[in-house]
Amino acid sequence: MTTLFITHPIYLEHLPNPGHPECSARLEAIEAALATDEGFSKLKRKTARRAEIDDLKLAHSEEHIRTTLKLVPDVGLNFLDNDTLLSPQSGEAALHAAGAVLDAVDSLLSGEASNAFCAVRPPGHHAYRNKGGGFCLFNNIAVGAMYALKHHNLSSVAIVDFDVHHGNGTQGIAMDEPNIFYASTHQSPLYPFTGMADETGRFNNILNIPLPAHSGGTVARKAMLEKIIPRLDAFAPEMIFVSAGFDAHRDDPIGGLDWVEEDYSAMTMMLLDAAERHCKGHLVSVLEGGYNLTALGQSVAACLHVMIQRNRDEKT
Ligand SMILES: [Zn+2]
Repeated sequence: MTTLFITHPIYLEHLPNPGHPECSARLEAIEAALATDEGFSKLKRKTARRAEIDDLKLAHSEEHIRTTLKLVPDVGLNFLDNDTLLSPQSGEAALHAAGAVLDAVDSLLSGEASNAFCAVRPPGHHAYRNKGGGFCLFNNIAVGAMYALKHHNLSSVAIVDFDVHHGNGTQGIAMDEPNIFYASTHQSPLYPFTGMADETGRFNNILNIPLPAHSGGTVARKAMLEKIIPRLDAFAPEMIFVSAGFDAHRDDPIGGLDWVEEDYSAMTMMLLDAAERHCKGHLVSVLEGGYNLTALGQSVAACLHVMIQRNRDEKT
């Protein structure tokens, strides 16, 4: 089986103002990191499809979809909030970002690949059912998770979020869906100032692990192994999604958890192990944040290495 890498050139045309940390150079940095490493020469690539409005409606209100797409300017920039800007191609980029996750779900369930990484932008985990924000227009991972449940009739899926920020939008959507387990490690206090440990959801399907600034990767790995993985095992999801943000890296200009590449690969390995136990290794990793270009490229490469390695192990 293979590891799939899904992306689309339209993502480079989502252009918030110059100097915005969520910039197209992020994806270029990931490609540059992959290009210099022989290990990725056999990575199976796919160009993301464009999500349909009906796909977005799995996780968003019609009003949110309509008002967001209406905000896309013909020229110049429009503001969704102070941090979230739209340029003329932002709507198309956002539709294709959600589309990448749909492609990943289809590819894993058709047997084409066993795990997938979606290198997308704009990111998604701050987008609620009714509201975007925090650089996010549509919640790519929640759309993909709902699609797996509704179109492929999976009975349960998990979303694990290791971005430095709490995925408030994803939690908001998962809160109403007992078939989604959402777990997040994140720096606290930090934007969006949600994700306290007592936010567990009325179906007890939410697990938040707030971490203090500069707590480091060892603490995070321990939390993943001792708190998140046992809950994942109890939930026994039929697919595992990862909100893969890399802004907890020690070199990141926004986050301050001081993680390094090995922390991301170790946590990805734990999640792949859980995916092996419950769902034939089916894991879909979706890019969220990560704003130091070198750290982002190297950290994505570190995760992809363990995803590819897992496929090789399967064969032996
Ligand atoms: Zn983030």
